[in-house]
Amino acid sequence: MPKKTIAAKEPEEKMEKAEKPAAASEAPVKKGKAPPELLRGFRDILPEEQARWSLIRAKVREMADAYSFDRIELPLLERADLFQRTLGKQTDVIEKEMYAFEDPSGDLVAMRPEATASVARAFVNHGMFNLPQPVKLWYEGPMFRHDRPQAGRYRQFNQFGFESLGVPDAIVDAQLILIAARTFKELGIDVTIQINSIGTPESRQSYLAELTSYFRPHRNKLSEDDKRRLQKSPLRLLDSKDPAIAELLAGAPQIVDWLDEESKQHFTKVLEYLDEVEVSYQLNPFLVRGLDYYTRTVFEIWESGDEGERAQNALGGGGRYDGLVELIGGRPTPACGFAIGMERVAKAMADRNIAPEARAKPLVFFCQLGDGARRVGLRLFEEFRVAGIPVAEAFGKNALKAQLEVANKLEVPYALLLGQKEVLDGTIIIRDMDSGAQEIVDSGKIVSIMKRKLAKSEGVTRPSQDVVQ
Ligand code: AMP
Repeated sequence: MPKKTIAAKEPEEKMEKAEKPAAASEAPVKKGKAPPELLRGFRDILPEEQARWSLIRAKVREMADAYSFDRIELPLLERADLFQRTLGKQTDVIEKEMYAFEDPSGDLVAMRPEATASVARAFVNHGMFNLPQPVKLWYEGPMFRHDRPQAGRYRQFNQFGFESLGVPDAIVDAQLILIAARTFKELGIDVTIQINSIGTPESRQSYLAELTSYFRPHRNKLSEDDKRRLQKSPLRLLDSKDPAIAELLAGAPQIVDWLDEESKQHFTKVLEYLDEVEVSYQLNPFLVRGLDYYTRTVFEIWESGDEGERAQNALGGGGRYDGLVELIGGRPTPACGFAIGMERVAKAMADRNIAPEARAKPLVFFCQLGDGARRVGLRLFEEFRVAGIPVAEAFGKNALKAQLEVANKLEVPYALLLGQKEVLDGTIIIRDMDSGAQEIVDSGKIVSIMKRKLAKSEGVTRPSQDVVQ
């Protein structure tokens, strides 16, 4: 068995400036010791991005709960064979992009490039066909593809996904699409659903023959990649990214005209359900999705405004995969699902200046003068935290002025001042940061006093945490 298998040679395309790892030259470099660099296509998700990520994660969890999907956590490493069998040998993911290698025990393993195959594997492994159907699962986590690094395209990226296994009805497809659409809406991102049906593997055969004979006379206009597709996987010509064949595509036969009667009815129903819940969609005869396991409904989620283009940066996509569970050795199980790229969601939010608070804004700031005060401060801080009052401090600073500057920056309504004298007296000073007015109170009662004060000014001082509705 080869030591290193399927991963492709590194393409020499430049990453966009914004995608480059932080310049190594920023830190002083010791002679002869270059600082470690990130691998191409990998990135850190820095603290300043985390608030958006938390908001996305919270929304996903909220949607999962609302629609009764259960969380499943799947391993990052699987037998390579799971993906080779399910995604289709001729797909880019398998041919060029999979991080597959032989592990120390000699097994050919792969960093998962997606999670649907793992969900299907778990469904079979754990006998989930014995559970009430559909089995509704969701997941979130990193995926790995040795893709060409460029804007919005990484080699490690995160997806969340919803999968519903066990029910063939069109209403399942429609509700999944609805969940995806609503998730974006509630995150403040306008999207359109691109939708198509690619029928069953059987009904697709005659369409594939038609498509091949349409393209064959134009073979010389195709790129090398597309020539290969024409031979091995002609459906994929439809989502070719080569602008040179856009005109050819416009005249190509469309798969919806070749659907079997059942697939046609199924598709019509999906669209009717979407109309019912007012999810807007665009019929897209070129949408086929990259992976082999899809049947009938396929869809993608595009940012509104991208519709005119043959979008390369879909926020997510999914579809029905009725044959997948059987393909990996389970009982025939209809299923449908979608996956969303979280980096792209975070970027779409950043583009719209959606900047949620990283944490609850502090309402109280603690200022101390002297060692004794600092010690009391450490204890008081805990009391405020336990009481659920967001509190901040600058224990590392000594001067009162410097501490009040921090308090000002944080826009807290109240600062608490504690000096040597107050420690001896058992008192503490409350300073109203707006008016500058100060009062001296019993330090033993400070938490309950502040609770009362804050409750009175609630709504005036407490900013809403619901940044996006
Ligand atoms: P797929 O599993 O290929 O259908 O991808 C679903 C979604 O995952 C895409 O619409 C993207 O948002 C995201 N995605 C896929 N590949 C990448 C990548 N290399 N880098 C970042 N996001 C990706």
